[in-house]
Amino acid sequence: MGHLIEKWLGNPISKTILKFCASRCSCGRRIELALRKYAGEEVKFCWRCNIAYRLVKAILDSILSKLDIEKDIVMHNLKDPMWRRGLSSVLEGIAKYGPQKPFTAYAPFLIVWNFTNACNLRCKHCYQNASKPTPDELTTAEALKAVDKMGDAGVAYVAMSGGEPLVRKDFFEVADRIRDNDMAFSLATNGTLLTRENVRKLVDLNCLFIQISLDGANPETHDSFRGRKSFERTIQGIKNAVESGITVGIATTVTKHNLKEVFEIVDLAERLGAKIFMHYNFIPTGRGKEIIDLDLSPDEREICLQKWRLRP
Ligand SMILES: [Zn+2]
Repeated sequence: MGHLIEKWLGNPISKTILKFCASRCSCGRRIELALRKYAGEEVKFCWRCNIAYRLVKAILDSILSKLDIEKDIVMHNLKDPMWRRGLSSVLEGIAKYGPQKPFTAYAPFLIVWNFTNACNLRCKHCYQNASKPTPDELTTAEALKAVDKMGDAGVAYVAMSGGEPLVRKDFFEVADRIRDNDMAFSLATNGTLLTRENVRKLVDLNCLFIQISLDGANPETHDSFRGRKSFERTIQGIKNAVESGITVGIATTVTKHNLKEVFEIVDLAERLGAKIFMHYNFIPTGRGKEIIDLDLSPDEREICLQKWRLRP
């Protein structure tokens, strides 16, 4: 089937058809509008966009029937803006670059945005040396403009990181604009500002995923590494996030400092109701350069991996 699609796309007539479908109109991005309608939404567009819709529909119907995929499932998935964006980007990528290997989408599916350099903690291993905002940080108006540009380019997903993104007062305004642009977003945070109120706002904005950093299973280990007393607030933040129903992941940077505690942290994450645990390798850049000797030795890394293997 992959071969057949490639052959079909190599044909000059189908290339022209796809290029037309992937073009833009004052109605919007043609493919995205077509996918909206395909998903069963009410969409108003001009007669040219309607031709594009019929062509996209014919192409999708034929691919689905050949691959024996149920149309209902695809229609259901395409109701989700992230899926729609992703598929649009694939089709627009083929229209622009052809079916090449490695595959090139029209726009990046995901952008990790270091939204601010400001942070309320002073972690020893901070790769970004985050503390205060950098002098050239975007203003709110510029950040909103950047979001519009990402949306217009066809990005599907923005992962908000930092610094601590929630330190910026305009975080929710910007997140709201991300949603307005039909993009999904997630948040990487130290958890200290995940109050019930903030978490409620994240739920309202359809935040897809919250990643919370935890570097110890107790206040001593966590706080000494994070540079400020924060363990209790981070744990409360994790609880608030889990309670909200948003998928929560715990991220731990493993060093000599917390190596002995890794599995206690995993147990704690499980008890708190996190769905995901991420073991991050320590990258000694930023402030991390000062503690390069805390990086695991090859032997320690191997022992850690063996333990993972043996873990029930
Ligand atoms: Zn149109």
